[in-house]
Formats: sequence, C-alpha cells, structure tokens
Amino acid sequence: MPAKRLKPCQCGLCTESTQGDFAPGHDQKLRIHLEKAAGGLLQLKNLLASVQAPEHVINRQLVAYNARDLVAWIGTYASDAIQKTLSGEVLAKGHAALRARMKARMADPALHAKLLKRSVMGQVVVDHEVVTETGPNGIEHMEMVCVYLVEDGVIRSATFHRSV
Ligand SMILES: [Zn+2]
Repeated sequence: MPAKRLKPCQCGLCTESTQGDFAPGHDQKLRIHLEKAAGGLLQLKNLLASVQAPEHVINRQLVAYNARDLVAWIGTYASDAIQKTLSGEVLAKGHAALRARMKARMADPALHAKLLKRSVMGQVVVDHEVVTETGPNGIEHMEMVCVYLVEDGVIRSATFHRSV
C-alpha cells in the first residue's frame, strides 16, 4: 500500500504536516484567526468586498500585466471570460485562449501599459491607456481604451479599442 503523502498544514499558524489542506481542527483555527485579524466578521466581509471591488480587480490586472506575471494576470479573469474588440470581434474566450494570447505578448520585455485615465461605473471599469510594446519596426506606443465588466471579483469581459 503506498504511503499517503504528508504536506504542510495550510493554516499558516503551525508547523504540522497533514494529508489534506489542514491538520484536524486547523480550518476552524484559521477561520477564527482571520476574523480576529480583520477586526471582526463584518470587517472581514467589508475587506473581502473591497478586494473584489471592480476597480481593485482591474488594478490588480494592470499591475500583473506590467509585471508580466501571467499567473496573477489570468487570476483576475473568470475561467470563461471573453476578450473582444469594440466592433465585436472575439480575440480570446476562456483561460486557455487568454493565456495563449497573453503569453506571447508577455514575452516582450518592452510590454508596458501606462494608465492615463480610469472611470468606474458600478461593475464597469474603463481604462484609457498607452501601451508600449515591441513591434516589427521597434518600440511602438499605442493608445487604447479598455472596457471591463467585473462580476464576483473577476473580469467577465474585456472590450478593447486601439488607436491603430
Ligand atoms: Zn495548522
């Protein structure tokens, strides 16, 4: 019989090993700790709401984009999220397609998005930016407007309009 593999308890409060995510009872220990650390259950709820706020999600997306951190970037998108142009052309749909599309762009060390202006209306965030990247003729700058729809703390859709 193969031995069950032990891994560190995920509670972050102990040094025990366990077969699941948590040593017995440590999920409850973590729950109590998180509530206390936030200053109460209501504060924890508000903290989560602020992290999931559309503007916050889009900002995380922008930071990950500029850090060329594909894992962090894809984490801001819903698994079935769609990217399209303003005229309706689908650029990518779903994590696999999004990842494939962005992986190539993130391989460019010159890639950078500079935010000019951001507008937020409910679940919709509009970023007006200048994107720098390496084109066939060297470094290129292009102006872009990105319209994001954020639901449940992730990007549901992104619609892009670029200057060229
Ligand atoms: Zn633990």
